[in-house]
Amino acid sequence: MSRYIARAAIRGANMIVGEAEQMVTSAVEDLGADTPVAFTNTAYYLPVILGFTGKEVTTLGQLPEVVDHAKKLLVDAPAKSLWLPYLGETLDAGAATLLAFEAMEGVRFARGQQPEPIQGLNLTGTSFTSPDSNGGARGDGGGFANGPIDDIQLRAWGIQLVDGRMPGFAAIVGAARSNEAAVSIVRELQKRNILVFLSGNVNGRSIIHQLMEEGVEMGYDTYIVPFGTDTISAIYALGFATRSALTFGGMTGGAVRDILLYNKYRVFAFVLALGEVDDLKYAAAAGAINYGFPVIADTLIPQILPTGVTTYEHVVSMPFDDIEGATDAEKARRMIQRCMEVRGVKVKITDVPIPVPYGSAFEGERVRKADLRVEFGGSKAHAFEYLRMVDTDQVEDGRITVVGPDFADLPEGGAMNLGIVIEVAGRKMQEDFEPVLERQVHYFVNGASGIQHVGQRDITWVRFSKGAVDKGFSIKNIGDILYARYHGEFGAIVDKVQVTLYTDPAEFEKWLGRARDAYQQRNVRLADMVDESVEEFYSCTLCQSFAPNHVCVVSPERLGLCGAYNWLDCKASYQINPTGPNQPIPKGIPLDKDLGIWQGSNAFAYQNTHQTVERVSLYSIMQDPMTACGCFECIAIIIPEANGVMVVSREDPSMTPAGMTFSTLAGVCGGGIQTPGMMGMGKYYLLSKKFISAEGGLKRVVWMSSFLKDTMAEDLKAVCEREGDPELLDKIADERYVTTVDELLPFLEEHGHPALAMESIL
Ligand code: SF4
Ligand code: ZN
Repeated sequence: MSRYIARAAIRGANMIVGEAEQMVTSAVEDLGADTPVAFTNTAYYLPVILGFTGKEVTTLGQLPEVVDHAKKLLVDAPAKSLWLPYLGETLDAGAATLLAFEAMEGVRFARGQQPEPIQGLNLTGTSFTSPDSNGGARGDGGGFANGPIDDIQLRAWGIQLVDGRMPGFAAIVGAARSNEAAVSIVRELQKRNILVFLSGNVNGRSIIHQLMEEGVEMGYDTYIVPFGTDTISAIYALGFATRSALTFGGMTGGAVRDILLYNKYRVFAFVLALGEVDDLKYAAAAGAINYGFPVIADTLIPQILPTGVTTYEHVVSMPFDDIEGATDAEKARRMIQRCMEVRGVKVKITDVPIPVPYGSAFEGERVRKADLRVEFGGSKAHAFEYLRMVDTDQVEDGRITVVGPDFADLPEGGAMNLGIVIEVAGRKMQEDFEPVLERQVHYFVNGASGIQHVGQRDITWVRFSKGAVDKGFSIKNIGDILYARYHGEFGAIVDKVQVTLYTDPAEFEKWLGRARDAYQQRNVRLADMVDESVEEFYSCTLCQSFAPNHVCVVSPERLGLCGAYNWLDCKASYQINPTGPNQPIPKGIPLDKDLGIWQGSNAFAYQNTHQTVERVSLYSIMQDPMTACGCFECIAIIIPEANGVMVVSREDPSMTPAGMTFSTLAGVCGGGIQTPGMMGMGKYYLLSKKFISAEGGLKRVVWMSSFLKDTMAEDLKAVCEREGDPELLDKIADERYVTTVDELLPFLEEHGHPALAMESIL
């Protein structure tokens, strides 16, 4: 233990706890003890305070207690010579610092000072519309840091965080040596799918400014989240860590030991301190060490190396000037490599031989008009993608061909046609898997930095940025990406892959025709695929790592509640990984055809939920509904007063007639328990003939988030017609008209909603 660090951290902690006390006292005086205190879009109150103390802070009046708690953790800064450094006291000072930080951010929220305004900062959101639009720009059109991460976003990242595809996060505090180093640091982390959290500054300059100057897109879509330009905003990273333990680890507020251990062993995270480390940063670092997160600094500071108890370093110094490398970018790359070693997790990087960086973190990147070199598809040209299975002697593995001209002669921002044809062969390949594999094109192509892919089938739209083309990215590289990724991810079912890219007009038309025939045949085949037509369903138990008694029973007519797995996906996944989370469930004897209950699915559920779920019905919300983990796209819940059901989507933050918002409902409905009258569901289940068919199907729906109505308008209209009520969609209320039960009933009367005349749902 370094006495220097201990002294600095304890000094910093004493200083900031004092400051927090003043801030809290004057806020209580100015605004009153009853003034609400809340972080936005979270059900976890002030999460670090909740984790450490179990207190659910909702008003300013509760904060003095928190400050008192922090004060009790403090000792005086040890005198220079006499004191034997003690890790425990330093860690306590760190904990006190975190409580002070979060209390201060709570006050700032109460005063309307959070998220921090940052001139010119535009964040990318999650809801993507078109490449030129601002997407879901947050913070009222930008100009603000992100502040704390939403529960919605935490859960959206959930499966990836749980299964390790997203290893964790890097909390960066300060400013990099140069802009070049800053960009290189975040690119290296993005490549490894590691979330990047930004805060702090050095003499007023923050890495957030550096990335803005370099035009790096920040926001949820690119996995780079700027919290704020002061050290205090780094608390949001630890709030995220705490909520991970509460959400995915099933821990409760106040179980501080469990929460910290969960993070130490399950969350891959570290702190990267860039630039000079002052007392406050030492204090914050001591807070992070409580979570088992090591701190790596790019300046010369004393280190804390492994002790008997710990196997890795707590504090590592890597003076930037001493790192080998000709450029700052190279040094930064080495530094990140070292961070990986210190935290000790092997991150798999897919090796894709193309001239631009590649990784899932680039999936959300947009290519805007101003940066556009060439586009395929969109409004000025057509593009399609088509994956088909062929006999093995018809595929030459690794053959990538471009048939037709390249875009060199096109003006900047020009458009041309492109057909992407992927032919695969493999002993385990089945025609059924064609759409499953084809859908991956979107994710695979989007992983290239500076390349954007939207849509599927014959409405594909691909954009190349000027930057990517300047680096040498070509049409052929699309084939390189697809070849590498199909082998990498689907090697179990695909033995050979060949890709042909058609720009030649005659060949393009010829293959477009073939592709359209195939899409048509697939549509017919999918429509024929009903629960009655198959012998087995599939399970998904991926979410058991955080909801141990949850099983999704996935049938052709009901997809997994996260929306990511339908029956075909599960079937393919079982072929790829026969001992994985998707197992076949032989249906067995039907016990109730209306409720959708089979002997086989009951038995599977019982066995795989630690004997807690005995019966599960696939078609009912009232009787033995399916359990819910936490990652549902939508929540359906009955509104007894309206004799119907409402469906709220994750994207909808508004109040619902159930008297709760989505995030509050999610807390009630998740965790892997059966709650009659309530269930989580994938949004496409709404379109199924089996959607709560036991209760009357879509006609039972009295309220639905407008997001669902708008994004699935065509499909829902077709369902309304199928159900014999073409105007049904307009009879269903949404948050634009109705947010309470009292408003709901007159709306339904006025629009003549069928649920009012249906038999009682209870
Ligand atoms: Fe989790 Fe169900 Fe989605 Fe599987 S299908 S990942 S169990 S929500
Ligand atoms: Zn889940």
